[in-house]
Amino acid sequence: MKVVIHRGAAQIGGSCVEVESQGASLLLDLGAPLDSSEDRKCGQGDLPPSLQERFQSGVLDLKGVLVSHAHQDHYGLVGRLPLDVPALCGPIAARVMELAGALWGGGESPRDWSTFVPYEPFDLPPFKVTPYLVDHSVIDAYAFLVEADGRAALYSGDFRAHGRKEGLFRRLESISHPDVLLLEGTLVGPRSKDRHPSERELESALAECLGETPGLVLVSTGSTNLDRIVSLYKAARGCGRTFVLDLYTALLLDRIEGHPRLPKTFWAGIRVAFSKPLMDCFRKAGLAAALEKFRPRGIKWPQIAAWPEQHVLLIKPSMLATAKKYLQAALPQATWVYSLWPGYLDRAGGIQRMKTYLGAQGCRIVQMHTSGHVRLADMKHLLERVQPKVLIPIHTAHPAQFAAHFSRVLSLADGQPYVVP
Ligand SMILES: [Zn+2]
Ligand SMILES: [Zn+2]
Repeated sequence: MKVVIHRGAAQIGGSCVEVESQGASLLLDLGAPLDSSEDRKCGQGDLPPSLQERFQSGVLDLKGVLVSHAHQDHYGLVGRLPLDVPALCGPIAARVMELAGALWGGGESPRDWSTFVPYEPFDLPPFKVTPYLVDHSVIDAYAFLVEADGRAALYSGDFRAHGRKEGLFRRLESISHPDVLLLEGTLVGPRSKDRHPSERELESALAECLGETPGLVLVSTGSTNLDRIVSLYKAARGCGRTFVLDLYTALLLDRIEGHPRLPKTFWAGIRVAFSKPLMDCFRKAGLAAALEKFRPRGIKWPQIAAWPEQHVLLIKPSMLATAKKYLQAALPQATWVYSLWPGYLDRAGGIQRMKTYLGAQGCRIVQMHTSGHVRLADMKHLLERVQPKVLIPIHTAHPAQFAAHFSRVLSLADGQPYVVP
């Protein structure tokens, strides 16, 4: 067995790993680099140079691409693969990527997805793959155990132990002595010293924040971060407020089946705010029927403005113009809860425009977020249990720092193969 990180050995985002055995290959993720994922549509951007070379050599016998989760930095370039290469992912991740493709990707999903079942091994000869469900800041994320030639490689994808689903981490810990562990290290480096509260601690802090705000609470978070959406729903209901969804979040919740604890638009205490830019996206994507479905659960913006203290509103940058029109008078008494990666606040773009406008109106701005990535202490726990023969850093800006914390570290460069002995 041979392992190559085509991209991600020394950067966060754009992850792509090739596992090769007996002349056949599997790709684990094929993401867009993070600096491009905000601006480019799915399927655009360059393949990693070493992977491009493999294609050009004509010897690449690709049995499939496995996508760990529905973040662009893990699937954004899958649309660049030939259509006869099977693309596999989790069943809900497929839904999320199809909807994202329909709404923001010009109406097309990058691929028809085949889906696997969590923990059920499947064969893509000569490989045997077991997908391990993990907790991350998007629903339906996986680590992959790939076996071939009597060797085993475990690829962590993006994951964490401080989410609500601690049991998933225990199952990952039960994997014993793989020959290789490719472990994400987003928080290795300066960010390892930050405090990363658990999702439950965050839920309590959100409830407190909602309780002490005299007026409207606006919240910006990732729609696909459904654990966070559940935290917000619970916090809103706990203080008697109506939870108002944006259209995209409403659509995701509507389309994800088999999760009875996920809020639905028809539940008590939930309404949907319509905004023109998102309605236009829905119509362009052929999702006009969904608009009609949500119409009875719609809330009029003047109603939010009249009773701001009764609402928690999910807000996206595209809704800012509507908010300016209807909610301006409510903003001095309002709180904007920013629950995304803090870096976006300092980048030119919609989030920064929201921050500037809301701040100028006297709206209180509160950052409440926790990382979707594994903390250093939890990495140590995992490694004590799993005991891989070789640990290869990935999805990290600081691969050289792994050796200061862990043993048996092998730092690869992008494109550098490692032959598993
Ligand atoms: Zn990632
Ligand atoms: Zn991710």
